[in-house]
Amino acid sequence: MLRDRFGRRIEYLRISVTDRCNLRCLYCMPASGCAWKPQEQILRYEEIVTIAREMARRGITKLRITGGEPLVRRDLPSLVAQLVKVPRIEEVALSTNGVLLERYAEDLTAAGLSRVNISLDTLDAAKFTQVTRLGSLEAVLRGIQTALKVGLDPVKLNCVLLRGINDDEIEQFALLSMTQPLHIRFIELMPLGSLEFFHPDRFMPVTEAKARCETWGELVPVDDLAGSGPASVFRYQNASGTIGFIGALTCSFCHRCNRLRLTADGWLRPCLDSRIGVNLRDPLRRGASPEELEELIRQAVAMKPESHHMSLTMRQDEFETMCAVGG
Ligand code: SAM
Repeated sequence: MLRDRFGRRIEYLRISVTDRCNLRCLYCMPASGCAWKPQEQILRYEEIVTIAREMARRGITKLRITGGEPLVRRDLPSLVAQLVKVPRIEEVALSTNGVLLERYAEDLTAAGLSRVNISLDTLDAAKFTQVTRLGSLEAVLRGIQTALKVGLDPVKLNCVLLRGINDDEIEQFALLSMTQPLHIRFIELMPLGSLEFFHPDRFMPVTEAKARCETWGELVPVDDLAGSGPASVFRYQNASGTIGFIGALTCSFCHRCNRLRLTADGWLRPCLDSRIGVNLRDPLRRGASPEELEELIRQAVAMKPESHHMSLTMRQDEFETMCAVGG
């Protein structure tokens, strides 16, 4: 079992399968994209599976595939099919921008994917193009409906709160949770990603979003939704979906953090905002034994900080692009 210096049990691994993305969200990366890693530096599927197996032996039970945009990597369902077979892995989930989900949802479900989080910051087509700089809202909406149709459950929608951009849509998002089995997650903008974009004036605390949702009806706490993690989750009476709030900056949830992150190029990182981590790829390619890998995994866990140190007033040189860390 993996336990860090602060007694937190580590059970969850987020696996970034690519640093590339088919969108260029304003807050996530510069318009030109990131400096993509050369292909030979990116973990191959069999390497990811080997790492997942070693991690599962030490207590990891949940995996989430992320990126970059994971669906731009070829044949993702085949990776899912291999990961679900790893002993002791109880669920494999996916984070996606949804653009390619209509095409892949059925194959992913057949491969054993349990659930999906879809990023969606606006329900307005023109704003969608403004925020993502590419892509079409229609494709994402079709992806969401396909995810529901093929039985992925729960289907969560991650919405980053952007003051002046989507704060007039909070009620509209909340309404979706009433009428459809969709689970909305309002997330605070973090000082990660695009240097040009992040500004305290664009930041909206989740408390404000929650107050706006409460003008619509009472929010009843929910505590049994799969993978609630850092979110505080609520439901309107008789609603089919839920509404969650992730106060990445204003609410301290690090004491509950149970995760590690594997970057697309094989670094095991203990925290989203930190640059610390352990390189697993090179030892793996040199033929490291399971014991050596275990030692490296334990080192990464030992490095896990008590909490992140992101704040509204972070220096610009402390930023790192989310696509490189693996969101
Ligand atoms: N492409 C996939 C997706 O869209 O879900 C996975 C990677 S993406 C980086 C993961 C999540 O990180 C998305 O929901 C995105 O909105 C969020 N994200 C990226 N930069 C962020 C920032 N600066 N603050 C808050 N959330 C951010």
